[in-house]
Amino acid sequence: MPRIFSGIQPSGELHIGNYLGAVKNWVTLQSQYDSLFCIVDYHAITVPYEAADLRQRTRDMAISLLASGIDPSVCTLFVQSMVPEHTELAWIFNTVTPLGELERQTQFKEKSAKQESIVAGLLNYPVLQAADILLYKADMVPVGEDQVQHLELSREVARRWNAKFAPEDSPYFPEPKPLLTPTRRIMGLDGLAKMSKSLGNTVGLVEEPGAIWEKLRPAVTDPKRVRRTDPGTPEVCNIYHLHKAFSPPETVEHVAVQCSTAGWGCIDCKKVLFESMEKELRPIRERALEIRARQNDLDEILAAGAATARKRAGETLREVKEMMGLG
Ligand code: SF4
Repeated sequence: MPRIFSGIQPSGELHIGNYLGAVKNWVTLQSQYDSLFCIVDYHAITVPYEAADLRQRTRDMAISLLASGIDPSVCTLFVQSMVPEHTELAWIFNTVTPLGELERQTQFKEKSAKQESIVAGLLNYPVLQAADILLYKADMVPVGEDQVQHLELSREVARRWNAKFAPEDSPYFPEPKPLLTPTRRIMGLDGLAKMSKSLGNTVGLVEEPGAIWEKLRPAVTDPKRVRRTDPGTPEVCNIYHLHKAFSPPETVEHVAVQCSTAGWGCIDCKKVLFESMEKELRPIRERALEIRARQNDLDEILAAGAATARKRAGETLREVKEMMGLG
């Protein structure tokens, strides 16, 4: 069975943007591939943070993933810092990665521009990313089209390490390929930018229904639909795109007709969306509550995931060190 690896930042509870954009897809993939899903807390410490807050965000993310349907009996779910082999391999890869390649990474340029003092970890972030993937010799990484280039550095690291230390006719690390997945780019409720916690335009995956409605009610719609009698253009409205994500096809069709003929107002439209969202989100919210109430079980799940990951990671590192004359 081909192997996939995917990481997610410990940003706390999921919001519907990262649920629809990535995690819902992982739930489908987990039974089709040998799947490793990792909460990448070592990546999260490359920007300023509070220690106690990070631990809570990591746990909240684990709860969200499990509540969304990530099943630890089918896949391996673990926290990156519980598997120290990630950083060990990253150090090794630092010795084959050209500095120029790292400095050219768009993500580094963007993140470092926002900071007064730039830590080396921010520059070396993609090296750790390569270690995350290659440690498990993952064949593929689930990505959307816009993320394909992020994988290129991991492929380059694999090539460089293989060229230096593996026999020419038998490369040790596979070059991980993108597993192109149908991703949805979910806009925030302000309708201006991608849904993101830092922009405060999110709907939490496990948020209470009352709070969700309070956010949906004033959410931005088609700006040209000023009066109730103005026909709207569904394609330019974020609410319509959320319908596409949560409502059945016949409802989506109904929305398009009602909107473009001014058959209903935006609040009617949002009420229908709210009901569709509730159908999908209520079971997730209930599961999250159950998992949160059993913290010991959560600890056990994460410890078991880390143990499985460490076993595989340890094998790779032993072989890598052997081939490099280390240890
Ligand atoms: S009726 Fe619905 S789809 Fe049309 S503009 Fe209003 S909220 Fe958007």
